[in-house]
Amino acid sequence: MNIPFLDLKAQYKSIKPEIDEAVKRVIDSQYFVLGSELEAFEKEFAKYLGVKYVIGVNSGTDGLILALLSLDIGKGDEVIAPANSFIATTNAIVQIGAKPILVDCNPYTYQIDIKRVEEAITKITKAILPVHLYGAPSEIDKLKKVAKRYKLFLIEDACQAHGATLNNKKLGTFSDLGVFSFYPGKNLGAYGDGGAITTNNKNLHEKLLKLRNYGQTKKYYHDSFGINSRLDEIQAAILRVKLKYLDKWNKKRNIVANYYNKSLKSYKTQKIIENGKSCYHLFVIESDNRDKLKKYLLDNGIHTLIHYPVPIHLQRTYKRLGYKQGDFPNAEKLSKTLLSLPLYPEITNNQIMYVSKFINALDQINA
Ligand SMILES: *Cc1c(COP(=O)(O)O)cnc(C)c1O
Repeated sequence: MNIPFLDLKAQYKSIKPEIDEAVKRVIDSQYFVLGSELEAFEKEFAKYLGVKYVIGVNSGTDGLILALLSLDIGKGDEVIAPANSFIATTNAIVQIGAKPILVDCNPYTYQIDIKRVEEAITKITKAILPVHLYGAPSEIDKLKKVAKRYKLFLIEDACQAHGATLNNKKLGTFSDLGVFSFYPGKNLGAYGDGGAITTNNKNLHEKLLKLRNYGQTKKYYHDSFGINSRLDEIQAAILRVKLKYLDKWNKKRNIVANYYNKSLKSYKTQKIIENGKSCYHLFVIESDNRDKLKKYLLDNGIHTLIHYPVPIHLQRTYKRLGYKQGDFPNAEKLSKTLLSLPLYPEITNNQIMYVSKFINALDQINA
């Protein structure tokens, strides 16, 4: 058997007529940027999330950059972020000239450790930027209280958390600003790059509309700085189709995750916080023999990935931040033990049984 990590072709097959129609609709219109598809998608995604405004942008990375810019964060400011995330979170902070202050994670939930967040706050801290890692909620409700107490902005990196909830409220809607990515492999993925910012704040919404469009108020009049970062019409039209299936797909991901959790009892997996619901962007297990397990699975046709093999503070590009080995032991340990298993809505029962069987078999060889 060959089991891919992700199977986007299977998903396309299941909705092909609708997708093809949507793409054709845009091409027929020959209207590609800032048109009716984006406007409709922004409204539909806002309604789905339960937030006032959605601003479509070019990517999740751009979303984070524009979110920080809209809050006038920049040189001389510090922003607190987790040491274990995809590098884009920290890159955005660096891009706008601020300094990322990294914080270790909780060893069970893998989410940013709220106690350490408080310890990391200084006089020049401007914002907290937590990530809902692997699609599971961070303690965003508690982080909100911390942000309020210290008068800091809160930006949620919800780039892996489309449709996940805490206390039945969608992630990406708890903060001043939330950011989503529509990179093809995300739970809600475009057919290219894409991203969005959420907010309930009218002023920030207006500011972000200008920031993503050359600082333009009306054509060729520029009152403020801005870049070019728009979610294009083809991507918006595709996302409108896929948004209708997001809940169904997330439900299937939860069923698969439940099966893995039950059948892989001897492995530690991500703990979901109370009243939280993950959208299982990734399903990860901990193994002391991670690299051996990964190879064994691949030899049997099972494709796995590592998210992420090097924690942010040990990435070479961030050497100048001055962190060293041992600074964030939980993040460092997880970078050596976590393995992400195949998980996508179209994966079959046979496939997940096959994956579990081989993982448990190696466990017995080692025992
Ligand atoms: C995917 C991702 C991003 C970046 O999104 P892009 O659209 O690829 O720029 C940021 N943060 C996290 C946690 C992500 O998983």
